[in-house]
Amino acid sequence: MATDLTAPQPAAPRPTETLPFDDWADRILRGGELTREEARQILASSDRDLLALLAAGFRLREKYFGKTVQLYFLMNAKSGLCPEDCHYCSQSKISTAPVPKYNILKRDALLDAARLASERGAKTYCLVISARGPNEREMNAVEQIVPEIKSKYDLDICACLGLLSREQADRLKACGVDRVNHNLNTGEDYYGQICSTHSYADRVQTLRHVRDAGMEMCSGGIIGMGESHDDIVSMAFDLKELGVQSIPLNFLNSIDGTPLQGKQDLSPQDCLRALAMFRFVNPSRELRISGGREIHLRSLQPLGLYVANSVFVGDYLTTKGQAPEEDYQMIRDLGFDVTTSVGE
Ligand code: SF4
Repeated sequence: MATDLTAPQPAAPRPTETLPFDDWADRILRGGELTREEARQILASSDRDLLALLAAGFRLREKYFGKTVQLYFLMNAKSGLCPEDCHYCSQSKISTAPVPKYNILKRDALLDAARLASERGAKTYCLVISARGPNEREMNAVEQIVPEIKSKYDLDICACLGLLSREQADRLKACGVDRVNHNLNTGEDYYGQICSTHSYADRVQTLRHVRDAGMEMCSGGIIGMGESHDDIVSMAFDLKELGVQSIPLNFLNSIDGTPLQGKQDLSPQDCLRALAMFRFVNPSRELRISGGREIHLRSLQPLGLYVANSVFVGDYLTTKGQAPEEDYQMIRDLGFDVTTSVGE
């Protein structure tokens, strides 16, 4: 039987109402804040609403960072051999992953990496060691290399050395460290599920020492470890209350040989919603798409930069990143620019 195309067609189903992301962005742009309930709603929002969410989040990103992208360069200055038991980490004492194991690298290797960071257009050189906290030998090595790197290259230095005492934080500040990374990793209520050798409170205390010593705080987390939306929201608001300047958001790269081996709970859309939620809660803060972006965001990586304003270029601590040329191409294709200046 022929269909009569001139006959009235049934109306298309009415879409369910989209959350008022633009109203929330308006409020934030006027100096207001996102509520915890709204943050939960962002994480629970539908894939259908994703473009509206990213478009509203982009308005916040654009206010503080325009179309700039900051690049960070990671250097694993000491690998493996860590006495802690962070379940996501291939370098912990309970991991059987075959990662390189070496003590803190010598001066030449650390300087070579700084040269590479500079050549790649990085704004910040992140000097990372695997440790509960730095011992005296490691502190001395950092105190010697940081002034040398800064005298040769136009790089900010971020040190990620584990838990710090106030005295150690003061020494890092004195030798020229600009910023310390120490991630909260997950929400306070979930922290005991991913680590038993130190506490969430220990991590917060280190961040306070960093702040009180006059350095910037870099702190973020890892999504996809089995936490709830409430845990992610709780972390985002704790980072806001601490006043961290920079937020690296990782997506669990579950490494064989770690307790979280095989855990693959994230869709690319989940990652984008999490990034957007962090932008709404911390609108003026650097937001960096960090480890796991290639695995979890996959072909949607460029969309992440509509709300985030920073990526690591090159490899991660014990896993490979995509080639730097692919990142530069992605940034150019978006019409964005690499910057080495500070956003706020
Ligand atoms: S303290 Fe750092 S290096 Fe050690 S297990 Fe935890 S995350 Fe890994």
